[in-house]
Amino acid sequence: TPTVGVLALQGDVREHLTALESVGAHAVSVRRPAELAAVDGLVIPGGESTTIDKLLRIFELRDLLQARIKEGLPVYGSCAGMILLADRILDGTADQQTVGGMDVVVRRNAFGRQVDSFETDLDLVGISDGGPVRTAFIRAPWIEEAGRDVEVLARIPAVDTQGRPVAAAGRIVAARQGPLLATAFHPEITGDTRVHGLFVSIVAGG
Ligand code: GLN
Repeated sequence: TPTVGVLALQGDVREHLTALESVGAHAVSVRRPAELAAVDGLVIPGGESTTIDKLLRIFELRDLLQARIKEGLPVYGSCAGMILLADRILDGTADQQTVGGMDVVVRRNAFGRQVDSFETDLDLVGISDGGPVRTAFIRAPWIEEAGRDVEVLARIPAVDTQGRPVAAAGRIVAARQGPLLATAFHPEITGDTRVHGLFVSIVAGG
């Protein structure tokens, strides 16, 4: 059984722990360097990327996390976590830094005020059993540009469930680069655990 940590500095930690356990991982909270050193994979949850950025430094986890990512640690970043995995960001705060690792440009709060939160069904590459994935977007970012080694897993569809055109049509909202997985949405609050299943299979060597 792989041990998968959830970075527990800020954000919705408990829902990720529950989802990971339900797909067969041993899930643990990570707050200290020794805990980060011991996991086989890590989830960076949604929350506020600027806050998580600051806390990573205060808790002396940032350098170790960067080093472990360089060594190939599987990491799944959701929403704020996706921002933290991006090599470059747009619309960050003046002093905001990321951990990096994925060759993507991520735009923070990309969906704007009008649609700042919504749920939608998305087709995800690599998740074919059981139909589209139910996802929740909460002041979410999107991937504005993806490098050559990045595999796009999901885009915003052209029309919504009522058939109306969607402003953000075509925007990339899930991607993978080797052992790094990122989604603009939260899969942990809709009860659909297949994204966690995908991540645990990456941790297990898939
Ligand atoms: N807007 C948040 C940020 O900039 C992300 C929101 C979320 O994680 N739900 O970090």
